[in-house]
Amino acid sequence: MSLIGQDVARAASALRSGGLVGMPTETVYGLAANALDVVAVARIFSAKNRPHFDPLIVHLSDWTEVDRVAQAIPSDAQLLWAKLGPAPLTYVLPKRPEVPDLVTSGLDHVAVRIPQLKLARQLLASAGVPVAAPSANPFGFVSPTTAQHVADQLGDQVDYILDGGACGVGVESTIVAWPEGRAVVLRLGGIPVETLTEILGYEPEVRTSSSKPSAPGMLDAHYAPGKPVRLMDHGVDWSLFSAPEGAQALRFASNGTANALTTHGDCAEGAQRLFAALREFAASDYKELWIELAPEVGLGRAINDRLRRAAHRGED
Ligand code: AMP
Ligand code: MG
Repeated sequence: MSLIGQDVARAASALRSGGLVGMPTETVYGLAANALDVVAVARIFSAKNRPHFDPLIVHLSDWTEVDRVAQAIPSDAQLLWAKLGPAPLTYVLPKRPEVPDLVTSGLDHVAVRIPQLKLARQLLASAGVPVAAPSANPFGFVSPTTAQHVADQLGDQVDYILDGGACGVGVESTIVAWPEGRAVVLRLGGIPVETLTEILGYEPEVRTSSSKPSAPGMLDAHYAPGKPVRLMDHGVDWSLFSAPEGAQALRFASNGTANALTTHGDCAEGAQRLFAALREFAASDYKELWIELAPEVGLGRAINDRLRRAAHRGED
């Protein structure tokens, strides 16, 4: 039987029986397991080589399922759901005791998402269990945006990969939490901060950078293609720049040329192509990548967040 396919029933049954499944979503592909099955969740951590202090997002087929894993839902969260519905947005909510500590790294909050991609919701509904799923890549590496990316990196670790085509959004979900009553963005992602501001009626604080284990998963060095990435300011005058020998140069927008992340400067297109571009660079003979940042607005902020982490080389 082939490892990649479109058999929802097979993927659902693998989840129910404690297996690992490559799950398509609109953001990136997830490495999915039954969130209530500790042994299955432990397999996620070992397959990805992910540290246990980095908690997992729990995926549900619909908001009506949220009471299975969370409680005392803030009214802001209800409001965001009412306006956005299934979306690249993750809600950090007080957890119910049924959620294993391994999923939340011992935190008393659980991260919950209802994906926009219909095939993902079909899988979740068919499995009938909450599904924990981090991005389906070895820890710290570039996130997968096609079924083949998952097969290339974790093919020997998964029971099945459900093929939903290339991810439409291409960067991870925006994560929002309510640590002190008001919304705080813990990760920039597929829903722009501006959209949250419009719905909530106030601008949520953005608190995204920390390498301390107490702020799980916000590690500075992440999304790494394994070779140096150097950042160029958005709007840099490329006519004054010549890439060093053996380096790839990637503009943010350039009408018609191949050496650009987008054709016309649309951030949605840039987000959608970002990880595939990093992956192509990783697989190429280029020694380093010089890449122009996106404009610091809307989805551009999520793109730049990923690029800064991809370029981060630690303290040494
Ligand atoms: P990934 O699915 O690999 O993109 O990672 C999911 C990220 O969600 C983690 O790295 C955390 O940063 C975040 N996350 C998951 N659960 C929680 C939680 N309970 N509180 C805060 N952040 C969380
Ligand atoms: Mg990830």
